[in-house]
Amino acid sequence: MRPVAHAALQLLHAPELRRVKRCAGCPWLFLDASRNGSRRWCSMTDCGTHAKIQRYVTKRAASRGRPRTG
Ligand SMILES: [Zn+2]
Repeated sequence: MRPVAHAALQLLHAPELRRVKRCAGCPWLFLDASRNGSRRWCSMTDCGTHAKIQRYVTKRAASRGRPRTG
């Protein structure tokens, strides 16, 4: 079962609707169960990894365009 589906089931009983967030990597919603509410992705191993790769690729692409290498 995907974490999102699990979170959706929890929502039926959870009063903390403010904890519902939209994933930064996809249109899915998820329940942020972290203590400080810093969670950004529905699945860290799915969208989290994808976002990190995207950021890495963007960073690399930007650095490649610079005149100074390193
Ligand atoms: Zn996601």
